[in-house]
Amino acid sequence: MNAGLQVQDAMGRTFRSLRLSLLSYCNLGCVYCVSGKSQDIPASNHATLPYYRLVDLIESMQQVLPLHKIRLTGGEPTLYKELIPLVSLLQERIGLPISMTTNGTQLKSLLPDLKAAGLHSINISLDAMSEQVYQKISRRKGLAEILTAIEMAGSLGMEVKLNTVVLKGYNDAELIALVEFARSNNMAIRFLELMRMGHLYSRDFETYFVSQHEILSMLSSRYSLVPALRKPSATASYWNLEEGGQIGIIANESEPFCSDCDRLRLDSYGNIYGCLSSDEAIAVHDFITPAALAERLQQALQQKQSYGFVGSTLSMLKIGG
Ligand code: SAM
Repeated sequence: MNAGLQVQDAMGRTFRSLRLSLLSYCNLGCVYCVSGKSQDIPASNHATLPYYRLVDLIESMQQVLPLHKIRLTGGEPTLYKELIPLVSLLQERIGLPISMTTNGTQLKSLLPDLKAAGLHSINISLDAMSEQVYQKISRRKGLAEILTAIEMAGSLGMEVKLNTVVLKGYNDAELIALVEFARSNNMAIRFLELMRMGHLYSRDFETYFVSQHEILSMLSSRYSLVPALRKPSATASYWNLEEGGQIGIIANESEPFCSDCDRLRLDSYGNIYGCLSSDEAIAVHDFITPAALAERLQQALQQKQSYGFVGSTLSMLKIGG
């Protein structure tokens, strides 16, 4: 790292954790990401930077940022055609732990190659334990395939976490079943408070929202929860279950974690975003000198909120979850 080009804000924050959003489309139509009007569902592939250009860009970022991990996300990253070569090249040239967040639909056949290419860990979105609720949320069929992929990832020895967005009237009756599935596979499960993003920015947010407090009280009816220490810059707070296992809650709304946020988002068109609250893309694909790149990164750092997430008109699908 070039110490002369420090990227830091007045609160002492910098970027350590990079989320690389590979595609801004997905094969699911989850109710929190897309509104259900057909024009909201992205139809086709877009022209993105070649994967080796993305690696070049990340290598340049490493010269001015103390990056310590990379997460591949989207949209749906497993639909990115060059996923395996990308993971291999990141592993070879960047050398940081690589993880991925996925909806799991395409995972089963990719797992052996992803593991061999150097993928370190996977977060798999799992919003339901019944096919009926899964279809109601995702507007697609196929929960059984995802459950199989999750079990397979675990049996391959990969580090797996499950992510569930809790939605009132949709999956709030399935939380215990989800925890039981996670426990039976020795995996942690994190419950996400809904975020005011995309179409939820202007309507319906309150209809679906379930707070951390409500999630904890539902889980307390079955488990004894012992709070665990929060790691610096972590998105989730964790509780150990006296019955065995661990749950986490990502409470963007009830307990924002902006003050030590270290996340930077890079999309596959070569734009960066310093905060999920910001819909202003900062282009970096043409900034080749470390000084010019550091300036752009500093600009992205200014997008970070001080106290809490304020919502965004961009869907998580576009900016990268
Ligand atoms: N397609 C991948 C997946 O499903 O995991 C990666 C991208 S997705 C945008 C990343 C995560 O963000 C998923 O766990 C998804 O459930 C979550 N998510 C999307 N929109 C959200 C919202 N408005 N509030 C909370 N979580 C959201």
